[in-house]
Amino acid sequence: MADGSGRVFVITGPSGVGKGTLIGKLLKRVPELELSTSATTRSPREGERDGRDYHFLGTAEFERRVEAGDFLEHAIYAGNRYGTLREEVERRLRAGRSLVLEIEVQGGRQVRSAMPEAVLIFIAPPEPAALRARLEGRATDSEAEIAKRLRTAELELEAQPEFSHVVVNDDVQKAAAELERLVREQLSLQ
Ligand code: 5GP
Repeated sequence: MADGSGRVFVITGPSGVGKGTLIGKLLKRVPELELSTSATTRSPREGERDGRDYHFLGTAEFERRVEAGDFLEHAIYAGNRYGTLREEVERRLRAGRSLVLEIEVQGGRQVRSAMPEAVLIFIAPPEPAALRARLEGRATDSEAEIAKRLRTAELELEAQPEFSHVVVNDDVQKAAAELERLVREQLSLQ
């Protein structure tokens, strides 16, 4: 941790579990938190903007930055590369800010080794079938993309016992409240 006051929250869990929605609510409710913008080699979805939703990088540029040691963690997910740039995290910690990383499970494990003081939270579905419904409801992904993500999600679910904090997303309002409570407790906020 750069100066001892900022905290890193890693929010992980299978694609389609609703991490994005819960994090959106969390950021509104806990203004002390900032969201880290990840880098990826996947193509932007409709409405996504470079530098806001992701830093969209070409594969060669992503690899160059891996070689340069620019990533705190990085992983391949459903055929694309994703990673957290150290600068995204260090800049905020230096300023005493706390931040949220929304990342998949392999990245979560890497952050746990690199920063044992990070708070890792696993968002779990009430049942695996709920993931299919969510992923299929997301009109932005193709059939093949959904199938790849579902296979990965099954593997990711097996990682749940590795995480000390688990929030089950059965009811989005309840899950958002639970996530907020957990984060406030770690930040020693009321
Ligand atoms: P999507 O393509 O749906 O935006 O993201 C696919 C998966 O990649 C999600 O599980 C998301 O949390 C994860 N992801 C996004 N950014 C990062 C990152 O910087 N590192 C890692 N390891 N995973 C990420």
